[in-house]
Amino acid sequence: MQFIDLKAQQALIETSLKKRIETVLSHGKYIMGPEIFELEEKLANYCGVKHCVCCSSGTDALLLALMAYDIGPGDAVFTTPFTFIATAEVISLLGATPVFVDINPETFNIDAGKLQQAIADVTSGKKSSPGAPEGLKPRGVIPVDIFGCPAEYDTIGKVARENNLFVLEDACQSFGARYKNKRACSLGDMAATSFFPAKPLGCYGDGGAVFLNDDALSEKITSIRIHGQGSNKYDNVRIGLNGRMDTMQAAVLLCKLDLFDKELENRQGVAHRYGEALSGGFTLQTVPEHSMSAWAQYAIVSDNRDEIIGKLKAANIPAAIYYPKPLHLQDAFSLLGHTKGDFPVSESIADRIFSVPFHPYLEKEDQQRIIKAIRG
Ligand SMILES: *Cc1c(COP(=O)(O)O)cnc(C)c1O
Repeated sequence: MQFIDLKAQQALIETSLKKRIETVLSHGKYIMGPEIFELEEKLANYCGVKHCVCCSSGTDALLLALMAYDIGPGDAVFTTPFTFIATAEVISLLGATPVFVDINPETFNIDAGKLQQAIADVTSGKKSSPGAPEGLKPRGVIPVDIFGCPAEYDTIGKVARENNLFVLEDACQSFGARYKNKRACSLGDMAATSFFPAKPLGCYGDGGAVFLNDDALSEKITSIRIHGQGSNKYDNVRIGLNGRMDTMQAAVLLCKLDLFDKELENRQGVAHRYGEALSGGFTLQTVPEHSMSAWAQYAIVSDNRDEIIGKLKAANIPAAIYYPKPLHLQDAFSLLGHTKGDFPVSESIADRIFSVPFHPYLEKEDQQRIIKAIRG
């Protein structure tokens, strides 16, 4: 049994995949070929956003967005410590300071009430951590839609607007999810998603995209994506990146997009079956009534994590831990000077959480076997 089965999906798109790839091989526009623009238009429509800019990865999508906002030294960007490293890595990479805010124990997403307090603290000149620079300027918030479940954007947006901050949605796990009739990737001022193979919509390599409605910022991101280009290839108006998506990956995504809605539906079914079977004895991620998760991961919280993972292993069922160590305790952020106890909810969840096999093609019998091993 596999943690995420990509082969089952591949069998369903084999013919269209071959056709799409052959088309790319015959036109030969491997960089910025027509598939890129076709994909951008389709993705923007899908998410209900004016602009989609495809790029090299989810990490680069976050980076492009922050670069468009001119984030740099002296800036504070608020985010959750319970996420993949990339969310906060890009803040530090630009010389700005990540200010961590603890999570809600039920959704595992950033706690909007604590966000308000954290912004007020930085605004009043309080240091966000022992190692953080003095006098930081609050600039923006990066909520993460963890495991595919959108954060609380109404509350976050209100707090952000009151403080003149941008909201950059880290939708790297939530492509396809919904929040109050809006799609993920349309829930903040900008959004970044990832097409890493294991994400809800994945390509066969690295890929990502930025989503936004603002025309001027979209043009700026398009420029930064290709070395800060101006009116032509050898006119450079700003410092940028080699942040393009390969045409081949766009071709793969165009094929997968045809299956995507059906897969989202399947994901709801698989999640529902896990929920029914496990809700009694375990803490599961709460997806609010007004949201639909893209279920990038199915997470379970238990005081007996190691024992359960052991039982799964014995039954030849893979398990994984997302995430064993919150970001404020990672060596990469040691300069911030955080210590254990700074974000107790994130720490407690990280100590007890694990994820079980989850994909749209998980067979009922396999799922029964997993459930049986977990309940053991
Ligand atoms: C996967 C992921 C990223 C990074 O995406 P890549 O495409 O791997 O660069 C960023 N944030 C979160 C929350 C992710 O899960």
